[in-house]
Amino acid sequence: MSSIYTKIVSSMLFPLHEKLKKHDTVEIRKSLEQSQWFSKAVLKQNQSKRLQKFIQTVYEHVPYYREMFDSANLSPVDITCSEDLAKLPFLDKTTISTNFEKLKSDIAGSLSRFNTGGSSGQPLIFLLGNERVSHDVAEKWRATRWWDVDIGDKEIVAWGSPIELGAQDKVRLIRDGLFRSELIPAFDMTEQKLLSFLSTIQKTKPKMLFGYPSVFDLLAKTAKQHGIQMDNLGIKVAFVTSERLYPYQRDNIEATFGCPVANGYGGRDAGFIAHQCPQGGMHLSYEDIVVEIIDPQGNPLPPGQSGEIVVTHMGTSEFPFIRYRTGDIAVMSDKTCACGRGLPMLEAIEGRSTDFVVALDGTILHGLSLIYILRDMESVEAFKIIQETKQHTHVQVVSKSGEVNQQMRDTIMTGFQARLGAEVSVTVESVAEIAPEKSGKYRYVISKVSTT
Ligand SMILES: [Zn+2]
Repeated sequence: MSSIYTKIVSSMLFPLHEKLKKHDTVEIRKSLEQSQWFSKAVLKQNQSKRLQKFIQTVYEHVPYYREMFDSANLSPVDITCSEDLAKLPFLDKTTISTNFEKLKSDIAGSLSRFNTGGSSGQPLIFLLGNERVSHDVAEKWRATRWWDVDIGDKEIVAWGSPIELGAQDKVRLIRDGLFRSELIPAFDMTEQKLLSFLSTIQKTKPKMLFGYPSVFDLLAKTAKQHGIQMDNLGIKVAFVTSERLYPYQRDNIEATFGCPVANGYGGRDAGFIAHQCPQGGMHLSYEDIVVEIIDPQGNPLPPGQSGEIVVTHMGTSEFPFIRYRTGDIAVMSDKTCACGRGLPMLEAIEGRSTDFVVALDGTILHGLSLIYILRDMESVEAFKIIQETKQHTHVQVVSKSGEVNQQMRDTIMTGFQARLGAEVSVTVESVAEIAPEKSGKYRYVISKVSTT
């Protein structure tokens, strides 16, 4: 029964859905499933060809890059391979917001607007074209199938919150109904809600889980505490993403749900950069994304050395992401994976960590529930949230206008108290910039309150 449904969804409904959205996701996925087995040399050759074409198109149609190339006395033919990208400047969030209109291609189709907190806590608004969406979906689809599951299989997604459900997310929920993926809101996690999530998972018997590692870790902990068995449901894999995956979380999730954890790295802004295969390799989405690792001075680093991840997404000709700084730290590998795929790999990802915060009544909240409040404020340039105690939270804000006015303070105060408790105190500090952690990494939520 279930496998026939899966087949129908995978072979008919999903392709139809994608076609309606004018995406050629299916063809791209099929082509990716062939190219993943190519040798590194062939993959590199193909990447260079695609990069040349991409840069040519961008030069012809994107005013920001045409001006940049011209003023630097560069021509598109100067970029022949990934190493040549070092001739071009980096793209960061400030550059994107300053040059927003000029970054749009003059032949772009319909573009959707996205808003993300990114990993540095500096909100980013950017545009996504159909080409990019179809490539991102195809990359995720390919990696899903590495685990002997497919789109259309039952899935539990621990993601998002009712607070952030916009029109777009509602469309997604309808789609989720069609594709049998059920959404668990990963916020407001009282013990009672955690128990009810566990019971939903037990009833649904999903083939796969998808969401934040911290959430599945918390669910695993709760199951263990209450002696609830979760490893007999036939779950084949737990896909985790958006946060750093700690080894103890992996062990805990694998032991409790009786399935391997597949780590994924990337986001809406930078694209799905890397996915883990069953043999453990963090394979890059190499056909679509060029990854560079750079030192603090901006110089490219060889494999084995730790530095910031910079990505060039070749599916973004309508709103280019060229040498986009992610703020995340990783090491490139020069090893070959036991799975036989030629796709190069990341060795370690040290970036991304989203902490939980604890409300006055003990409810554990995902840090994102506070982040969304600041992310949705037009006047906020960057921020950092520090929960000092259950009773007190401190917020550093970089305002676009240079000063944090009373209205902004009130919005933050009201939003935080609604989630943490009416009695908590919230101090808002206006700062010129957010300093990175000692590690060089930016964290946008830090809680000093223990969740255990
Ligand atoms: Zn592999």
